[in-house]
Amino acid sequence: PLVLGFETSCDETGVGVVRGQTLLADALATSMAEHERFGGVVPEIASRAHLEAMVPTVHRALAEAGVRASDVDAVAVTAGPGLTGALLVGLAAAKAYALALDKPLYGVNHLAAHVAVDELQHGRLAEPSLALLVSGGHSSLLLVPDLAREVTSLGRTIDDAAGEAFDKVARVLGMPFPGGPPIDRAARDGDASAIDFPRGLTGPRDAPYDFSFSGLKTAVARWVEARRRAGEPVPVADVAASFQEAVADVLTAKAVRACRDSGVDHLVLGGGVAANSRLRALAEERCAAAGIVLRVPSPRLCTDNGAMVAALGSRLVAAGVAPSAPDLGADSSLPIDVVTR
Ligand code: ATP
Ligand code: MG
Ligand code: FE
Repeated sequence: PLVLGFETSCDETGVGVVRGQTLLADALATSMAEHERFGGVVPEIASRAHLEAMVPTVHRALAEAGVRASDVDAVAVTAGPGLTGALLVGLAAAKAYALALDKPLYGVNHLAAHVAVDELQHGRLAEPSLALLVSGGHSSLLLVPDLAREVTSLGRTIDDAAGEAFDKVARVLGMPFPGGPPIDRAARDGDASAIDFPRGLTGPRDAPYDFSFSGLKTAVARWVEARRRAGEPVPVADVAASFQEAVADVLTAKAVRACRDSGVDHLVLGGGVAANSRLRALAEERCAAAGIVLRVPSPRLCTDNGAMVAALGSRLVAAGVAPSAPDLGADSSLPIDVVTR
């Protein structure tokens, strides 16, 4: 099936076109720059930007894919989780296209879509797989028995998401928002073992698959402050590398452990933080050592985009899952185990 996918859960207006598991187009507009001076995404600004970008982005996606709107077999849209106002813009657009074209509409879970996008590059996901989903708003370990119907959570962050920690640490270091890419770049010239930052929730009595990044963030901020107070220069590259190492270490150790404990030998990474070069390298290393098959989408597809939504929509159509009702609404805190609503 030819599926048109809409993503507007945060600051990216994404429209993707997928045929089966083949990516035909992935058009993206972002309001990132408009949020930068606020240090985070401002919902009202994001919603307005989605509204302005939507129609041109759809047109770009269709042109890039070389298809006409009338060729589309199904429409998929992120129904949650995310910013309500932002989600509503995508929903309105998706409903309009579905209604005008008289095609089924699938409201999908943004997090499951972050996992589904990998199928566009590496083919059908082995089931069951484990998924490590790490983004600006989420950090979860998921068990995926059936991507179209059943996704369950094994653990998640009890405070900050991994991407949030990157963004906050970047701010402390005077880097732009979002902080993941500049920290990743700065870390290349740093020593990852220079500073021994804390690994949250890794004690013997801690929940084995839950994460905590708030203590790490605070530890980095304190370390940097102490340096500044003493009038000493801050070794930015070393701080970035050591912080990044702490995050990658905990994420990969827990993901590998979850695979072992549940007897699953396939792991897929997803979400914006999965674009991180050190996380990718360490996951590769540890999975190879543990005999786990690792799949990681290319960095461009890890962060929010429309192709991921189209990919999951395509999977739902193929699995014969029932489409959503025409009065489909947004759910800002859609639970991870609801793949489609
Ligand atoms: P969610 O999926 O939880 O709704 P989100 O919509 O904010 O989150 P994503 O695009 O999936 O968005 O992820 C954005 C996050 O990924 C940001 O916190 C950003 O700093 C982080 N990120 C992007 N690239 C990298 C990188 N190379 N290294 C580390 N973090 C990164
Ligand atoms: Mg974003
Ligand atoms: Fe996301």
